[in-house]
Amino acid sequence: MRRLQAFKFELMPNGQQQRDMRRFAGSCRFVFNKALALQKERYEQGEKKLGYAGLCKLLTNWRSGTETPWLKDSPTHPLQQALKDLERAYANFFAKRADFPRFKKKGQAESFRYPDPKQVKLDQGNSRIFLPKLGWLRYRNSRHVLGTVKNVTVSQSCAKWHVSIQTEREEGKPVAQATSAVGIDMGIARFATLSDGTFYSPLNSFRRHETALRKAQRAMSRKTKFSRNWKKAKARVQRIHARIGNARRDYLHKATTTISNNHAIVCIEDLRVSNMSKSAAGTSEEPGKRVRAKSGLNKAILDQGWYEFRRQLDYKLSWNGGYLVAVPPQNTSRTCPCCGHVSASNRRTQVRFACVECGFEEHADLVGAINVLRAGHAQFACVPRGDSPLGQVSGAAMPPAAGTYRSDPDAGTMPPLGAVGIPSLSAQSAAAEG
Ligand SMILES: [Zn+2]
Repeated sequence: MRRLQAFKFELMPNGQQQRDMRRFAGSCRFVFNKALALQKERYEQGEKKLGYAGLCKLLTNWRSGTETPWLKDSPTHPLQQALKDLERAYANFFAKRADFPRFKKKGQAESFRYPDPKQVKLDQGNSRIFLPKLGWLRYRNSRHVLGTVKNVTVSQSCAKWHVSIQTEREEGKPVAQATSAVGIDMGIARFATLSDGTFYSPLNSFRRHETALRKAQRAMSRKTKFSRNWKKAKARVQRIHARIGNARRDYLHKATTTISNNHAIVCIEDLRVSNMSKSAAGTSEEPGKRVRAKSGLNKAILDQGWYEFRRQLDYKLSWNGGYLVAVPPQNTSRTCPCCGHVSASNRRTQVRFACVECGFEEHADLVGAINVLRAGHAQFACVPRGDSPLGQVSGAAMPPAAGTYRSDPDAGTMPPLGAVGIPSLSAQSAAAEG
């Protein structure tokens, strides 16, 4: 199995290298914006859009012309990659995956990419990497890079520069170490509840930092724009944003690694996060209902990164030889896991589940997780043996992660699995008695 993986490190550039990287990123942004403006102009005049090759020819003229001779100081390949990015932005727009490409602004996601691994030298023993027109750069060597280098991206966030090294390597077919299946219920009060009873408390990193952020933003708004003090205040706001992002990423990675190492099949509700988190305000003709309550929910959903959680589970499971099963979320919170009775009155409060038929009582999120596991089991059993289960499983509702696609015919054969958390018959009768 081919495994693509990126390794990201913080760079420790010297002053000259920092200035150069800022310039290169700026040149790439300039080329992207110039090409986008050109395409827009051509469109308004009824001309056809220029292809990548055509744009590259223009880039050569820009570099050798008198108007923008400074473009010559930047390496060619990253500039061409900016044009490639524009091509992809257009393709995504035409495929209705994204909005129309927008002009890039200074200071937002500054980055550039070296697509040719032959021009890059990675010296892991000395914690340094050689990049064209930048020379040897030192980096914080926190882990060993595996595989062959495919391309390298340099990016800046919060006054820090990072290098992301994309690699490829051939790996044997992963053998699942874990043999259990588990269901997960996603929630607000508890970020994730597993059907074996463990749960992850809500991340809410944003909430925790919200006060600090608000204070910093207010301080910034009081400063004269673009003054020295304004820049200082702005840096503070960006630092808090970065801290929030780091805390969230760390938490999600730890949670998904633990879950994917401990279970071979993970069942999850197929929640359309993009639908759920859509603005509830509606349009002026059709104002939405319960706008305030829903906007609070949206904030919580986006804050906790449900989509990212699922994406990470997907690819980490596939690396371990496991599967992610997405099940339709119907009635998962209202069905009794013991007797199967479906009723809204089973759930009297937000946290407590009590079956009106058999009297089974449990935490509502745990009940949800058990039902998700049940539904996932049923779905997985439906897949014909020898057929790739990916039609129903990983990537059913979303494009699979980089390593998810497996075409080998016996991918669907799984060892018999012990399901965690489904109450057995004895537990059922005990619950019925109690
Ligand atoms: Zn019941």
